[in-house]
Amino acid sequence: MAVTDAHIHVQPWWELKPAVLETMTRGRADVDELQKIMKSPSHLLRRLDADGIDRAVLVNYPSPDLMGFTSRVNQYVAEYCKAAPDRLVPMGGVHPRFTEDAAAEVRKAAELGVRALKIHPCHMAVEPNAYLHGLDTLRAIYEEAQRLRLPVMIHTGTSVFPGARSRAGEPMAADDVAVDFPDLRLILAHGGRPLWMEQAFFLVRRFPNVFMDVSSIPPKAILKYFPRLAEIADKVLYGSDWPAPGVKSMGTNLDDFRSLGLPPDALVRMLDTNARRLFP
Ligand SMILES: [Zn+2]
Repeated sequence: MAVTDAHIHVQPWWELKPAVLETMTRGRADVDELQKIMKSPSHLLRRLDADGIDRAVLVNYPSPDLMGFTSRVNQYVAEYCKAAPDRLVPMGGVHPRFTEDAAAEVRKAAELGVRALKIHPCHMAVEPNAYLHGLDTLRAIYEEAQRLRLPVMIHTGTSVFPGARSRAGEPMAADDVAVDFPDLRLILAHGGRPLWMEQAFFLVRRFPNVFMDVSSIPPKAILKYFPRLAEIADKVLYGSDWPAPGVKSMGTNLDDFRSLGLPPDALVRMLDTNARRLFP
């Protein structure tokens, strides 16, 4: 079985604010390797090989005021993934509060090669349904992504980075998005962990185009968070969230996930087939 890690962060760390970089790297023994990986795909491919990962989705998004990432992330991740287009999937983003022409920015990202978009409500300080309350750029992002068939990942759950607005991570606001953009494929990152798993589970079952990933949940605890995970196996993506704080190794996470005793057909879907459907 080929394995896709549908949620890793290979990002331009040189754009990060110092306090954010400190949170990202605190207590890690592999910072030198990570610094090389952020600059060079060959280092990442070696790491993926060592960890038994065939494909990975490289999650990026702009967040100039909280994290430091600018709109250059799209160019960065698109270029980076050209080193191995069969293995690396570039995910970028457009910031609804820092764009004049959101639809044009989405098109430009797609032209660069970006294959999915991320909305990070906690790091963008934007509720996923803020287009209902006047944020027209957010509506334009969803509309254009739907038209171009780009899946949109929405971070759900808390965040520990300085300045992060965890309240915006509540999944239920994505209910509006799923209703208003029925052909848009949504991925609820992290399944709402650790506060809102029931909401995420509901949304995944309720809407045909709503998926979720299990990244950043300690794999050994996933079935405590989602006892009925196997029931939604065709809507779940495996992911690690490496190298976010607390996520030491893609390989260890994968081993732990495989050891959960999930039915083999469910495992194949979550580790491989679902990701190939969303990111062909
Ligand atoms: Zn993440």
